Amino acid sequence: MAFDAATAHVEIGNDYPEIREGVQAVCSRFPTSYWRELDKKDAFPDEFVAAMTEAGYLAALIPEEYGGSGLPLRAGAVILEEIHASGGDAYACHAQMYMMNIILRHGTQAQKDRYLPIIASGELRYQAFGVTEPTTGSDTLKLKTRAVRDGDHYVVNGQKIWTSRALQSDLMTLLVRTTPVDQVQKRTDGLSVLLVDLKQAVGNGLTIKPIDTMVNHHTNEMFYDNLRVPVENLIGEEGKGFRYILDGMNAERILAAAEGLGDARYFIERARKYACEREVFGRPIGANQGVQFPIAKAYAEWKAADMLNRAATALFETGEPCGEDANIAKLMASEAAWNAAEAAMQTFGGFAAASEYDIERKWRSARLARIAPISYNLILAYVGQHVLGMPKSY
Ligand SMILES: Cc1cc2nc3c(=O)[nH]c(=O)nc-3n(C[C@H](O)[C@H](O)[C@H](O)COP(=O)(O)OP(=O)(O)OC[C@H]3O[C@@H](n4cnc5c(N)ncnc54)[C@H](O)[C@@H]3O)c2cc1C
Repeated sequence: MAFDAATAHVEIGNDYPEIREGVQAVCSRFPTSYWRELDKKDAFPDEFVAAMTEAGYLAALIPEEYGGSGLPLRAGAVILEEIHASGGDAYACHAQMYMMNIILRHGTQAQKDRYLPIIASGELRYQAFGVTEPTTGSDTLKLKTRAVRDGDHYVVNGQKIWTSRALQSDLMTLLVRTTPVDQVQKRTDGLSVLLVDLKQAVGNGLTIKPIDTMVNHHTNEMFYDNLRVPVENLIGEEGKGFRYILDGMNAERILAAAEGLGDARYFIERARKYACEREVFGRPIGANQGVQFPIAKAYAEWKAADMLNRAATALFETGEPCGEDANIAKLMASEAAWNAAEAAMQTFGGFAAASEYDIERKWRSARLARIAPISYNLILAYVGQHVLGMPKSY
């Protein structure tokens, strides 16, 4: 039987076939022409986010008592994978899945009661995550944005870069330094997580400057100039914020891997079909091994990465340490997606360059996934240093 991206997932136990079908049904209302037009105009997929919210998929990981479905991380991974396999892009709505654990695991009861029900209903958009800074990049522990306590507020000063969806969100997770690095015993101490009400902050200490990028991603530079954030918006304990962010990172790796797996499915199916249909020199181009083998190899890589991500998710869900598995799954899934993107690009020949074929748009986005949210090298550094015990580069 030929590969079909719509059903290309090996069912091990219950792999949420009803969720896959439901997400596919929503996505079918947003064909690739919808994403292509947004890409041209650099516009935000408001209608898509509204449809996914209405169908309940963006609240999948929020516990039932707060209005969500209370499903495990695997369900979130399946939702994001299906969006990407359809030719769409989950960038506009994935961050709240990544960040949910931070509020759930470390937020106060008052914060959960205040935010979770309105995030679940879609009334409050929680899609912005401010960690990366222009001068320190991947060296997160050196970040310079400072928050200083002043009565019942923190006063925030500094600069972030690449804070995506800040203009389309109501609430943001912000990582700041509350104790200077030279006053802490460990560099991981002294960082704190604040929830920032973006609508209130803009014009009152926060300036947002959009960055023009190679993908339609709505990402920004953020300038903090005496922004006052109520102390009640601190997550967990002051100074322990880096641990809370790390807690969320394994979930982020697994969900980002799922998006890569969806992209790989999209490219493999498009390339396979085109290779069977396009005839040059009197036969389908897919009969030539130079065309066929890169697609077959991409399929093998997709399948291996899919297994890795399922293993990482199973560990995550049982509460076992899963840093190694989640990082390697993210690495292999984004490589599988990129190799599939390259195979599709080559298979379509000149037509790959025409936007109406929907290859180049997804190709750009698959390339970016090797850099953000975590770069290829930094995952290899994690494996080399933390798993294999080799000397540190940072
Ligand atoms: C479109 C987009 C959206 C983003 N959205 C967000 C967001 O919402 N929130 C947020 O906080 N951040 C976001 N980011 C930031 C993203 O996470 C970073 O760009 C990424 O982590 C890499 O950091 P950097 O760009 O500063 O690269 P740098 O840290 O400057 O690194 C540059 C290169 O050097 C390599 N390198 C650095 N140190 C080492 C080392 N020790 N060993 C080997 N190689 C090394 C890196 O792998 C990389 O290839 C986004 C980025 C983009 C492009």
